[in-house]
Amino acid sequence: MPAYAFLRNQFMPLADAKIGVLTQALHYGTGCFDGIRGNWDSEKSRFCLFRLKDHYKRMLESCRILKISLPYSNDDLCRLTVELLAKSAYREDVYIRPLAYKSAANLAIRLHDIEDDFLAVVTTLPTYLDTEKGVRSCVSSWHRVDDNMIPPRGKICGLYVNSALAKTEAMENGFDEAILLTQSGHVSEGTGQNIFLVLGGELITPPSSENILMGITRDTVMKLAADKLGVSTVERQVDRSELYVADECFFTGTASDIAPILEIDRRPVGTGKIGPITADLQRVYAEVILGRNADYSDWYYLFSPE
Ligand code: PMP
Repeated sequence: MPAYAFLRNQFMPLADAKIGVLTQALHYGTGCFDGIRGNWDSEKSRFCLFRLKDHYKRMLESCRILKISLPYSNDDLCRLTVELLAKSAYREDVYIRPLAYKSAANLAIRLHDIEDDFLAVVTTLPTYLDTEKGVRSCVSSWHRVDDNMIPPRGKICGLYVNSALAKTEAMENGFDEAILLTQSGHVSEGTGQNIFLVLGGELITPPSSENILMGITRDTVMKLAADKLGVSTVERQVDRSELYVADECFFTGTASDIAPILEIDRRPVGTGKIGPITADLQRVYAEVILGRNADYSDWYYLFSPE
């Protein structure tokens, strides 16, 4: 399988894509990234890059937070992503990882006057959480980083130390995924997922002020719930104890899809089985991300390899 990367403004075999040991971002986490699904439709022999422009819009916003300036427009980034995918021989679902970072060999701790670069790689889509069986979760002893520490609305490399600490703690304690609370003890999100509760037939999810990443799957789910199921979403502060009394609960994310949460802190969520709204959303989402639904053509960037 020929594997390629884009680095320093050129495509190259993945094995040649190397960065130096003095690269500033390696030392201080001064980069930002995104994660994009390329869904392979075997019947139509084409990829659907799902909400590609929205992912790059978010990455360019993260760049603004970090004072990273790239010589590419959103359209340029979309085009070079497709070119990268075209060079590889994947005919299966893929995960595209673009990353913008402080690339100078300079160990000064600052954002200004440090050169930037952009790289992108394509890999197969990891199975992150078991969406069929559902997951067991716990509230983490690690709190979510606050906006005034490292802004979580940016998908900033260094922020993922917070996620990794919580994920490892959860897994080493026998759970699949962690739920992080804010400094004030309200529900924020998972380590790489947003979270939704179903209470009284409505979806409830924490708003942007709760130190979440504004997930693209989160936005997709809110729209699909309204359009296809007639279920509305309330964005509001969520108490920890609401997790224990919710009828249903699930995580959303590009790599995690819609992952039902069946247990939180050793208490069953609802019946302890995948709930009806979660199951309906999983079905609708799986169909829409393949790129075949004309109602959502704005979300699709279709590409048929030779
Ligand atoms: N929160 C965090 C911290 C994440 O890393 C992710 C994954 N990108 C998400 C939420 C979900 O975002 P999206 O649906 O855009 O993948």
